[in-house]
Amino acid sequence: MTQTNRIIEQTEKFGAHNYHPLPIVISKAEGVWVEDPEGNRYMDMLSAYSALNQGHRHPRIIQALKDQADKVTLTSRAFHNDQLGEFYEKLSALTGKTMILPMNTGAEAVETAVKAVRRWAYNIKGVPANQAEIIVCEGNFHGRTITVTSFSSSEEYKEGFGPFTPGFRIIPYGDIEALKAAITPNTAAFLVEPIQGEAGIVIPEEGFLKQAKALCEENRVLFVADEIQTGFGRTGRVFATDWEDIKADVYIMGKALGGGVFPISAVAADEEVLGVFGPGSHGSTFGGNPLGCAVAIASLDVLEEEGLVKRSLELGEYFITKLREINNPAIVDIRGRGLFIGVELSGAARPYCEKLKELGLLCKETHETTIRFAPPLVISQEDLDWAIERIKQVLSVS
Ligand code: PLP
Repeated sequence: MTQTNRIIEQTEKFGAHNYHPLPIVISKAEGVWVEDPEGNRYMDMLSAYSALNQGHRHPRIIQALKDQADKVTLTSRAFHNDQLGEFYEKLSALTGKTMILPMNTGAEAVETAVKAVRRWAYNIKGVPANQAEIIVCEGNFHGRTITVTSFSSSEEYKEGFGPFTPGFRIIPYGDIEALKAAITPNTAAFLVEPIQGEAGIVIPEEGFLKQAKALCEENRVLFVADEIQTGFGRTGRVFATDWEDIKADVYIMGKALGGGVFPISAVAADEEVLGVFGPGSHGSTFGGNPLGCAVAIASLDVLEEEGLVKRSLELGEYFITKLREINNPAIVDIRGRGLFIGVELSGAARPYCEKLKELGLLCKETHETTIRFAPPLVISQEDLDWAIERIKQVLSVS
């Protein structure tokens, strides 16, 4: 029995089966490349759902982790630590927002944003107690907690998990008229992914985000952008909302904020919104820990100093052009921004992902029929050409 088979058997035997991974074990990684226990190398074109924008084990981020691990890793927020302030300042500069609230996972940051906008609605906007509404979109993915699951439109995500949290309205994604119709005097916020990732790299029609922001302003509704998957250069801009030159009232961030090294997430907004929290109203034992903050500071530095946003834009354009040269009637659509690309097929995407794996390229289907290509943004043109050759081999019909 190979090491790989033994490890998979052990994992399947003792673990809950809430994932269906490709049958590969990753035991080493560097940059865009990963290795299994038998020494086979693969290119990672998923980047842990865009958490690895800076690549696997970026030396600068790993150094920051090691240096901080030698000093102090956790203080809790009962005391100050010497990394949190710098982390705040950096993220404040990047988002243009005056306040930051740190958490650990994406879903926790979404929960934090939901709490913030609800309290803002009561304290600032004057919505009657317990009447606040948040508008979300069909096909959304914002995480897996009960409240976040409550406003999913996917039965698969919800079945058997009720009762759910009330206070959410679902509109079709990208439908400005539906948004207009859904806003009431009790609407606190519109929560939206600027590009829907898990739904299959779905890009709203040009102008939607801008119009939605304007509509929110007119009605005193907060525009909340979930940039957990789309942020930090993934789409060729720092944030995907930058594509329409809009500033969200609230940014929700996670994944690549921790450089694929340490889980750290955050909410950014101005004082009017995040100022609603006082001591005792919200928190997390590990939120804002010095180890995570040191890693996040380095992750943001790498993003900036290595020009990863521009790189994503340029290589993304090159990649999508090459993908569009592929001849296969099963390809329904190829869409993307930066190195965040979806190839939608008329049938199942998984067999293609399995074939690509045989050729040394790792990617994952999303929503059955779409292959998501999202390599680390540090990928070289040479490595990308290597990938394109294999993708052409698997996807082309002669
Ligand atoms: N929001 C978006 C847009 C996401 O893509 C994800 C994860 O894929 C989440 C939230 C949840 O993040 P986490 O898995 O860290 O809780």
